[in-house]
Amino acid sequence: MTATVIDGKAFAARVRAQVAAHVARLRDEHGLVPGLAVVLVGEDPASQVYVRNKGTQTVEAGMQSFEYRLPAETSEADLLALIARLNTDPAVHGILVQLPLPAHLDSDLVINAIDPAKDVDGFHISNVGLLGTGQKAMVPCTPLGCLMMLRDHHGSLAGLNAVVVGRSNIVGKPMVQLLLGDSCTVTIAHSRTKDLGAVCRGADILVAAVGRPEMITGDMIRPGATVIDVGINRVERNGRMCLVGDVDHATAAAVAGAITPVPGGVGPMTIACLLANTLTACCRANGLPEPEGLTA
Ligand code: NDP
Repeated sequence: MTATVIDGKAFAARVRAQVAAHVARLRDEHGLVPGLAVVLVGEDPASQVYVRNKGTQTVEAGMQSFEYRLPAETSEADLLALIARLNTDPAVHGILVQLPLPAHLDSDLVINAIDPAKDVDGFHISNVGLLGTGQKAMVPCTPLGCLMMLRDHHGSLAGLNAVVVGRSNIVGKPMVQLLLGDSCTVTIAHSRTKDLGAVCRGADILVAAVGRPEMITGDMIRPGATVIDVGINRVERNGRMCLVGDVDHATAAAVAGAITPVPGGVGPMTIACLLANTLTACCRANGLPEPEGLTA
């Protein structure tokens, strides 16, 4: 068997076009422009690239982008004061504080200072609780992107066996909640799981969010399963740096029914879902119907 490759880049372009069309309608019919504020503290090079991409794609979707680049030595009080200001700014519908923050800043405190209705990353403790209890939440972007691709590929996910490898707060745990919400039978695996191969082979849907290059190999995959590779790992190959996932693509694609590539799979969906969440937040804030197909 050779797996169908799920093209996340093309899917993300479709999501962005859907967002842009909805944004244009909001502007024409209601005079509303969704706004996303991104706060970056410090000069981490990878974070600077992410923030630049987010700003560009926000503007391309017809939304307003507000960028706040603060020095690494910014005090917690100053950062909290900026968040308080953004919380009450009616032009700002989404607030994202780029992680990781410098060590002297308490990430939990900072994230929980964001108005939950503007928490487009879905990391605020209120949104975690809403998602966990099956209520309307802001959903973390990466697992939301994975869910959209799975729904697109399978239609209904009800009754499928899903295994999520990784239990982080930003990917693994919310992914589990979303799959449960779509009535999968879900197993969550982590570094202490016994016989990971056997657990993974039980999966109709296997989501790998581990951060270990090519750890999931073809012999760990049930024939015909759908494999979502969240991992982004930089490795050296033949003297040059390249990106690989948590799944060994070559051996996995020989067994799986469908698989996301790295790069070009989950990665592009993450920013597309950030735009979708900003649009959703704007609609909710104004009592308007939410965009169809762009929420959990
Ligand atoms: P974390 O490091 O926070 O979590 C990794 C998880 O993997 C932990 O739960 C850990 O278990 C588990 N794990 C580690 N080693 C093993 C092992 N040998 N067997 C089974 N489980 C193991 O990572 P994140 O969730 O933040 O990210 C995971 C990957 O996804 C990374 O490659 C990251 O770069 C990528 N990522 C990609 C995004 C995108 O946009 N595509 C967005 C976010 C992340 P334990 O809890 O027991 O330690």
